[in-house]
Amino acid sequence: MPAYTTIRAWVGWRNIGKPMKDMYLRMVEIGNQGADDLGYDGLTDLWFSKYDMPAEDFLDETDRVWDELKPLYDALHCHVRDELSNFYGENIVSKTGNLPAHLLGNMWGQSWANIYDLVYMAENNQSSSEINLTNILIEKEIDEIEMVKIAEKFFISLGFEPLSDTFWERSLFVKPQDRNVVCHASAWDIDSDINDLRIKMCIERNAEDFSVIHHELGHIFYYQAYSDLPDIFQRGANDGFHEAVGDLLSLSITPNYLQKIGLVTAEEASRANSDPISLLMKQALDGVVSVPWTLMLDKWRAKVFTGETSPDDLNRSWWELRKFYQGIEAPRDRDIDAFDPGAKYHIPGNTPYTRYYLAKILQYQFHESLCNQMGFDGPLHECSIYDNEIAGEKLRAMLALGQSKEWQSALEAMTGTRELSGKAMLNYYRPLMDWLDKQNAERTCGWEES
Ligand SMILES: [Zn+2]
Repeated sequence: MPAYTTIRAWVGWRNIGKPMKDMYLRMVEIGNQGADDLGYDGLTDLWFSKYDMPAEDFLDETDRVWDELKPLYDALHCHVRDELSNFYGENIVSKTGNLPAHLLGNMWGQSWANIYDLVYMAENNQSSSEINLTNILIEKEIDEIEMVKIAEKFFISLGFEPLSDTFWERSLFVKPQDRNVVCHASAWDIDSDINDLRIKMCIERNAEDFSVIHHELGHIFYYQAYSDLPDIFQRGANDGFHEAVGDLLSLSITPNYLQKIGLVTAEEASRANSDPISLLMKQALDGVVSVPWTLMLDKWRAKVFTGETSPDDLNRSWWELRKFYQGIEAPRDRDIDAFDPGAKYHIPGNTPYTRYYLAKILQYQFHESLCNQMGFDGPLHECSIYDNEIAGEKLRAMLALGQSKEWQSALEAMTGTRELSGKAMLNYYRPLMDWLDKQNAERTCGWEES
């Protein structure tokens, strides 16, 4: 697509934000008032006091982990920038500056998986080594319900109870023809005492939704696991834990797993395994790329809630943070009345975002630790916890704790450590990092951060 067309779409999408600004500020005002009435020092204090440590210490923790992961992100940024510059030309993508936000294959630049083909060409013939799950689902005529059954089987292989009849009767799996519904995927604990748990999703038969199903079922099996606890403890150890369960399983959707459940042949699996950089690149363009994004979003909100960012500076500070953390900039100067944060669902929807940051980190910590405890000794991206008794036992025990213990203890019960750490993610992507370092050897990496 020519660059000017995507700029129109990018700018148009953001025009919707402008009229939200004053209403958003009013919402913040009301929120702060409510938080004060509950005894907190405003919304920032309320939001970040839920992590079993003082809000300020928790925010420092998130920064500490980001410092660990930044070298990996920087290396990926450097490589992607160079490839995009070669493709579009240096007048559109400079080899030393920020990435223009409209060319990253996603409306917010929060995942770059859609530009995989532009930034990575597999060593061997790409089409022959890559497993295309979307095509497999279509070719094997696996429908929406069967996709959910496959994900359920994964949980059952780990010792979880099968989903209840009411789950299958009352969930929404397919977009209805006769009425409008909110298709944003979600998982609901309607009444866990009688096991009334449901998901609401308009499943499409593709690889992305296959992952999303695992994500949503992660919530469902968490609800189920802690349903015997007193109501007050029927929550995740923290909200990041809740988001991380299904994502943990997604890391186990390896070529060998797909072979085990009959979706690919042994030959296809071994061909995919022979090109680990291709596998890891695809995952990193989503998993690594989203880390600074999930961090910056609430960095912005924290300062807006406290008033440190003045109403006139809302948009400027948004782009300052995007530059600082992500090395991404707007493709055009922004209008004086622009309110670009309004174009992201979770800002007007007022959904905290740090949970996704935590989940991004935690899923790798869970994965590495379970793989080690299983005695797996290959590269982490080849490890699958599917059908493993030890992994299942550890995971079920952790989920069953709900919020009855502080999250550090839940983490310790499963992984042996009480600390959030980026090291597991670095270990997972080690082969990719080594490859990136070689690619970047002659390039100038980094960008001007302010
Ligand atoms: Zn979720």
